[in-house]
Amino acid sequence: MKPFVYVTKPIPKEVEEMLAEHCTYDIWTSRERIPRRVLLENIKEAEGLLTSGTKIDRELLCSAPKLKIVSNNSVGYDNFDIEAMRERSVIGTHTPHVLDDTVADLAFGLILSSARRIAELDRYVREGKWTKSEDDESLFGTDVHHQTLGIIGMGRIGEKVAKRAAFGFDMDVLYYSRSRKPEAEKKTGAVYTDFNELLQRSDFIVLITPLTKDTFHLIGEREFRQMKQSAVFINISRGQTVDEKALINALKDGWIKGAGLDVFEKEPIETDNQLLSLPNATLVPHIGSSTRITHVNMLKTAVKNLIDGLQGKQPRDVVKELKEGGR
Ligand code: NAP
Repeated sequence: MKPFVYVTKPIPKEVEEMLAEHCTYDIWTSRERIPRRVLLENIKEAEGLLTSGTKIDRELLCSAPKLKIVSNNSVGYDNFDIEAMRERSVIGTHTPHVLDDTVADLAFGLILSSARRIAELDRYVREGKWTKSEDDESLFGTDVHHQTLGIIGMGRIGEKVAKRAAFGFDMDVLYYSRSRKPEAEKKTGAVYTDFNELLQRSDFIVLITPLTKDTFHLIGEREFRQMKQSAVFINISRGQTVDEKALINALKDGWIKGAGLDVFEKEPIETDNQLLSLPNATLVPHIGSSTRITHVNMLKTAVKNLIDGLQGKQPRDVVKELKEGGR
């Protein structure tokens, strides 16, 4: 008998076909997020769960006594309660690699938009404020090329950002990470730098660590106050790696020049969030991996992991903390 799988978001036909070959399944087809109560009701018989962002905690695991594997359709897995999953021996997988270039592209989109004020000046043109044709100093931005980029979190995506910076924009690249990355240094010329020194020397700072208890509010007032007043800060990791109140103060009071943000402490962003009224912040709605091709490739990776797990094979992308001996 084919195992039963529950899918918490709509998926494209080609991905559904992959799933249908090996599993019976039910899919939450609404674009609205599945209410928690409905989810817990629907996973009672599930052996597999295909999801992204759903909190996988003791309550959920109790509601799904047959659950063997949770396949996350994202590379970040801060939604996993690792201890609870370990206790129940539930496998947890994610989708590394397939999205790296797509997310790095967005990082550069935010860098360029913030430096050259693209989103801000798009609004300026649409609002009919472009009335002079000669050079107007009030529209000047800053250069990206030949500046210094600091990357915090030199993993898969960080390395792709470094590559674009070094070879596309002739930037000097500094990085800080939990461990040193000699391979990435060799490939991109990035220089390992002390955390505080990176904050002080960089013209652009890209934050791309996972969200963990160590990276919660990694960047707060102390860190923003160390950055150059001309610095642009980019967050493409998770909203909670940054103390958003401190970020708002930094942008309002000119501790830094600008920010490009894909992620927020509360998503979707609340309508009274002060970031919405700050012209020096470029804001996008958590679209780091949101291209059609990458979306499908991530889902195919997630389904392959799911099927392998259900068939008793070791999925390729088990998260490191849940691998044999992993912590
Ligand atoms: P990765 O390959 O695991 O890289 C993460 C890097 O961060 C690693 O080099 C890691 O160091 C470092 N790190 C971890 N904790 C740290 C700490 N406390 N201080 C300094 N560095 C630390 O992961 P990835 O694939 O590049 O993805 C990174 C994160 O980006 C994901 O976890 C996800 O949250 C986020 N993301 C967001 C989007 C989006 O849509 N905005 C899309 C994809 C990913 P070690 O190598 O020493 O562990």
